[in-house]
Amino acid sequence: MENHHETTSKQMESLNEGDESLEYSLRPQSLREFIGQEKVKEQLRIHIEAAKQRQEALEHILLVGPPGLGKTTLAKIISNEMSSGFKQGIGAVIERIDLASMLTNLEPGDVLFIDEIHRIKGHVQESLYPTMEDYTLDLPIGQGPSAEIVQVPLSRFTLVGATTREGLLAGPFRDRFGIRLHLEYYTPNEIQIVIRTNSEKMNVQIDEEAEKEMSRRSRGTMRIANKLLANIRDYATVKGDSIISLEIAAEALEFYGIDELGLDDWDRLYFRTLIEKFKGRAGLKALAIALTEDERTVSEVYEPYYIKLGFLTLTPTGRVATDVAHGHLGYEVPQDFQRTFF
Ligand code: ADP
Repeated sequence: MENHHETTSKQMESLNEGDESLEYSLRPQSLREFIGQEKVKEQLRIHIEAAKQRQEALEHILLVGPPGLGKTTLAKIISNEMSSGFKQGIGAVIERIDLASMLTNLEPGDVLFIDEIHRIKGHVQESLYPTMEDYTLDLPIGQGPSAEIVQVPLSRFTLVGATTREGLLAGPFRDRFGIRLHLEYYTPNEIQIVIRTNSEKMNVQIDEEAEKEMSRRSRGTMRIANKLLANIRDYATVKGDSIISLEIAAEALEFYGIDELGLDDWDRLYFRTLIEKFKGRAGLKALAIALTEDERTVSEVYEPYYIKLGFLTLTPTGRVATDVAHGHLGYEVPQDFQRTFF
């Protein structure tokens, strides 16, 4: 970490990538421990209670929202609350054969969680349709034209899908989820509660003002709050007396290059590129190439927060940096900007 300016929160993430046990231990295990998302929790409580009373599996559930808001955590909580088993797969890498083996191994009521479900391959998705409706699996026996389709009955299970991009799901697939829930960015108050709870779990002493400052800079995202806490704890251990005071937190945030809106060097590079290279308006492809970043990461991980901040709008002619973004980054707003923008 010799170069201060290169230490972005992106790098902070990688610093803690091996820290899965920490992430695991901080994960709320029940709806009661899960902070915020009140509407989502209320709906889940009702569906869980009803399914329990009827002694049935829950309907299939689609969880929608940007990364780090708690979709995986909620999927696990659903299985905890239902006292059922939990199996997990990642959309992009699931093949029909993996799916068949996962499905045939499910016990009644089990939760099958598929992350990034919008990335599931078309033919795998289609093979899920009868499964989601009738709890049967069409298995081809043999090969070529003489192959026979055998219908294998499955246990009644609950498919929980998580997606950052609901719009990329085929209509018939989306419609097969009886319950669709949208997660929102958290308020600073909600994040502060989690920072406090987690610093207790981690045995870290933290001042209230430091909690507040860190909550404001966590981009409304619990995963970022947890990573900030872990990194600032390290900073406090090495540079201070292990206590996270407001002074130490502010120093550490400055050190990691995180500004008052939670933006880091990478975010600033995004807007500098958009404004300087593309005069404030660019197509996703061109922008991603200029940033040497994957298009999907740009649009699914970074941009939703810029839109929420009012820094970015998506128009038919490209992404546009708003006057608020120009102002925050110290650029003058182009005179004809409003006109070109709307
Ligand atoms: P997603 O699947 O949406 O990317 P995760 O479920 O992996 O997000 O959540 C990221 C981290 O944030 C988890 O380790 C979890 O501890 C924490 N987290 C998420 N939502 C909450 C919440 N509402 N309350 C407390 N911690 C949360």
